Amino acid sequence: MIDFLDLHATHEPYASELREAVGQVVDSGWYLFGEEVDAFESAFSTYNGVDHTVGVASGLDALSIIIRAYKELGEMSEGDEVIVPANTYIASILGITDNNLTPVLVEPDPRSYNIDPARVEEHITERTSAVMIVHLYGQNAYTREIGHLCEKYNLKLIEDAAQAHGAYYQDQRAGSLGDAAGFSFYPGKNLGALGDAGAICTDDSELAECCRTLANYGSQEKYKNKYQGYNSRLDEIQAAALRVKLKYLDQQNQTRREIAQQYLETIEHPDVTLPTVYDFSENAPGGNGATPQDSTSAPVTAVDSHVWHLFVIRHPDRDALRKYLEENGVDTIIHYPIPPHQQEAYSEWEDQSLPITETIHEEVLSLPMGPHLSEDEAATVSKFVNQYPHS
Ligand SMILES: *Cc1c(COP(=O)(O)O)cnc(C)c1O
Repeated sequence: MIDFLDLHATHEPYASELREAVGQVVDSGWYLFGEEVDAFESAFSTYNGVDHTVGVASGLDALSIIIRAYKELGEMSEGDEVIVPANTYIASILGITDNNLTPVLVEPDPRSYNIDPARVEEHITERTSAVMIVHLYGQNAYTREIGHLCEKYNLKLIEDAAQAHGAYYQDQRAGSLGDAAGFSFYPGKNLGALGDAGAICTDDSELAECCRTLANYGSQEKYKNKYQGYNSRLDEIQAAALRVKLKYLDQQNQTRREIAQQYLETIEHPDVTLPTVYDFSENAPGGNGATPQDSTSAPVTAVDSHVWHLFVIRHPDRDALRKYLEENGVDTIIHYPIPPHQQEAYSEWEDQSLPITETIHEEVLSLPMGPHLSEDEAATVSKFVNQYPHS
């Protein structure tokens, strides 16, 4: 079986370093609020080019605490609207509804799977207080147009960067493009911990301070509570592991780009839609800093805006293709089978019609992707996709 993901193999090149780092924490007798968290936060800030990183317990907490902090700082209120892509993972939406704000679901561009910048402005109302972009599958979602709209209407720009550690928009990293960003270090992410963890990145000192306080029971000074906070903290063991893994992130993202390039060059099937890589360079034609490139001819390595958290193809009979690949030893996953507006948890949205989002959920299939994959394995994946009968 060619695994979709293999964390044992992913950690293999630095497993002894990882064991040593974790072992040192075990031996130190100090597990929260220590040197490892400080060192990781500072390394992650440097990596992303931001002033502050606040470690928290998960990616969902990162998003939820950002919005809660904006409420505490008087920047947002309950009932405000947050524009968000309709095809995102449920956590982006939960971060908004947890705070009693209202997600406004916007259709994605079916080529990038990211929010369609051309559809954002028509959804802005008097109540809109933020746009949350999601760098889905690892591709940058920021465009100049979205940046301008947030300035024009005085909206906060929040990034859900849970799938895009290390991705660039021009020379800036995902996580440094808006007012605040949430990262997840769920084990399967491009930068994953050995359990749950997350982080908030921002240049805003006041916001960072508020998030840090909220994540620690709302307390800055022991036993004095400024807010009705949460217990959501990054711990020393996770920080130590993340500090080791951060050193290898660029290298492992490069491996992902090479696998993606191989898939793009070798998968040829009339019924399969390959992912589109966007060119965000300063002078890219199109005027808004984003131009879709022809998947097969795009020099992926020249475009660092994609870190290929997932390699997602589309097929009109996705379930049958998936079964065929399974029978031939290729493990695949669907990201995601049910869109948020059709989830039982959000039954109040069942009447919303979002046809692009719905089609995407019916057709997408994620092929094996990650540093664990060999060139031969990727070739086998392409071979079986190509062998699947044509319609
Ligand atoms: C994984 C993920 C999250 C949530 O992260 P957790 O650490 O699992 O809470 C949020 N948004 C997106 C897009 C994700 O992929």
